Amino acid sequence: MLHSHYHRFIDRYQVPTTTSRPKTPFALKFVNCYPSLDQDLKSFFSLQSVAVRGSRVRLQMKFKVELFFIFNCRVVLDESLGFPLLSVTLFTLLYGNWVSSFLPRKSVSRKFHCFRAVDIVDHRQNMVGCSQSFVRMLEKMEEFDPEKVIEEFEAITQDAGKVQRETLKKILEENGSAEYLQSLGLNGRTDPESFKTCVPLVTHKELEPYIHRIADGDHSPILTGKPITTISLSSGTTQGKPKFVPFNDELMESTMQIYWTSFAFRNREFPIGNGKALQFIYSSKQFQTKGGLAAGTATTNVYRNSQFKETMKAIQSQSCCPDEVIFGPDFHQSLYCHLLCGLIFRDEVQFVFSTFAHSIIHAFRTFEQVWEELCTDIREGILSSRVSAPSIRTAMSKLLKPNPELADLVYKKVTGLSNWYRLIPELFPNAKYIYGIMTGSMEPYLRKLRHYAGELPLLSADYGASEGWIGANVNPKLPPELTTFAVLPNIGFFEFIPMKHNIEDQDHNQMDPSFFHIEPEPVDLTEVKIGEEYEIIVTNFAGLYRYRLGDVVKVMGFHNTTPELKFVCRRNLLLTINIDKNTEKDLQLAVEEASKLLGEEKLEVVDYSSHVDSSTDPGHYVIFWEISGEAGEEILKECCNCLDRSFVDAGYVSSRKVNAIGALELRVVRGGTFQKILDHYLGLGSAVSQFKTPRCVGPTNNLVLQILCDNVVESYFSTAF
Ligand code: AMP
Repeated sequence: MLHSHYHRFIDRYQVPTTTSRPKTPFALKFVNCYPSLDQDLKSFFSLQSVAVRGSRVRLQMKFKVELFFIFNCRVVLDESLGFPLLSVTLFTLLYGNWVSSFLPRKSVSRKFHCFRAVDIVDHRQNMVGCSQSFVRMLEKMEEFDPEKVIEEFEAITQDAGKVQRETLKKILEENGSAEYLQSLGLNGRTDPESFKTCVPLVTHKELEPYIHRIADGDHSPILTGKPITTISLSSGTTQGKPKFVPFNDELMESTMQIYWTSFAFRNREFPIGNGKALQFIYSSKQFQTKGGLAAGTATTNVYRNSQFKETMKAIQSQSCCPDEVIFGPDFHQSLYCHLLCGLIFRDEVQFVFSTFAHSIIHAFRTFEQVWEELCTDIREGILSSRVSAPSIRTAMSKLLKPNPELADLVYKKVTGLSNWYRLIPELFPNAKYIYGIMTGSMEPYLRKLRHYAGELPLLSADYGASEGWIGANVNPKLPPELTTFAVLPNIGFFEFIPMKHNIEDQDHNQMDPSFFHIEPEPVDLTEVKIGEEYEIIVTNFAGLYRYRLGDVVKVMGFHNTTPELKFVCRRNLLLTINIDKNTEKDLQLAVEEASKLLGEEKLEVVDYSSHVDSSTDPGHYVIFWEISGEAGEEILKECCNCLDRSFVDAGYVSSRKVNAIGALELRVVRGGTFQKILDHYLGLGSAVSQFKTPRCVGPTNNLVLQILCDNVVESYFSTAF
């Protein structure tokens, strides 16, 4: 009986009988660990002692972990013991930290340990609670089945309210011992009502002291039950400096869940072959916090995680360039090599990707500058001296061989283009689509992206933040302007503050200014209403409780019972002087309108930002534009007037009419100014992958304001009112 189990096991996982990597990773569960603790421990440890003969085994009675993640294994049929032993390398351990308490410290992730093979069960059985999503992750890596992923998504969205309650319960149970939650008097309660009564709404500012203690090396349970070992840096484009936020396995897990979900839906509509992806992704510099925790941007933490590569493989999205390029020390060199690798593998590239669309535009603008050099490199098989990082040079030398035919072909393709139109499909003839976040502050880049893309579909990617994921794009056929994100109800607990008392709905002359400060109560995920806008509140598995992410979203519909959200804008990105309130979106619309005038001269706005200048009396809006060439004075005056008229917010219009707000000012900055802003953020530890141009530069961001002001070449005041 034991032997037949053993053979079934070997067949099932194709486990080789010598030490080597199994075909796919798989899970292992100890059956009945909890109920018959003593007995299981006894047999387990007697085997342990046999198996790791010589190593000291210290036993503790905390036996919490159920799930292992195995990469290497070896089966030893030891007749003397009467049953098979399985020798495994432990790769990751979840849901408990007991292992380090009885296994020799160094062995946690590397050494072989033996388990009784009869205790290995198919991990699809008996998994409960949190483990389920992890098991799903393992299964998908084994054999990614998009239809199954869709089925699961349909299942969790059938009764999103129930899943939300279960998710909150899980979060509070796992983290009940955290100092933060303890101090709020929940006393073990996990229902949404008690949670909302006891736990206040917070912003990053309120959590900052807790996060800094974690970063400074305090290992006690502060925000989470299990210690946080990694810190993410949010891009910080809003505040001017990156924020620290906790990162953990659960966030990694939900990242993978989002990737699979949107891939499954995407691939159903736009199937890709087994090729490569030209991914403009970059790691930021990783560093250690004062307390020795690894810190980097959230994208960097994801790229560095071994699950990322496995997942990319599973969803046929492997990057065409070596890791050394992604993790290179200088982003300009990495970008050059991304382009070069893309060209080397041009026939295999299935899609072009970057986290945010800005990086794709940036990459192809750079291509316009360096394409001849790229051709020379390909022709001669020698990497340009502009790439100096030894790690990148070594890695690239393995790929780059003299290929004059390819160089000629690229040359022919590029010289055959008119104003770079259709550049991407010409370079990558088998690409099926372009993929990345194209909503929100990325929308202004769509025109340019469409120009490079020609007829290639633009598919907008999912919605999340360094703080955690929110929703996946499950309707990939919709154009970016209409993209929505279906909330995954099992990755966090979400609440929504209605934005009902929006200034647009009010009679401004009659309004009491204090009215704006009365905030409606947040509603739950399934209580939101179609057509309404909300500020989103996140509670997640990484120590954020009722956290104001700062984003405004609009409910466009429901997928089963979970809402489909459209990203509207950052809440605090506001141009406001008195009763006027203009959001990032209002600014975008005004810029779009005014830049149409430039189109007549075949010019475009490369990038833009804004600022409220209160140094004048009355204060006025300042719009900064970087333009692709030289525009005439007359046209710029017209653009300036058009910008002023395009802010249709009633508060703005009425204030302008009575000169309570001064004339709008258009300041044109010299070419390359926004590149300087990008470089400034990179210097602060941000990553290109997460970069978003700050659309409104507030007083806390004076370094960026300085860069903009120092580069102004001309300025115009509106005469529209
Ligand atoms: P970060 O600070 O780099 O973590 O960026 C997170 C922020 O990027 C979110 O809070 C949003 O404001 C924005 N963002 C993320 N995903 C999207 C999306 N799909 N559409 C629009 N904006 C997004």
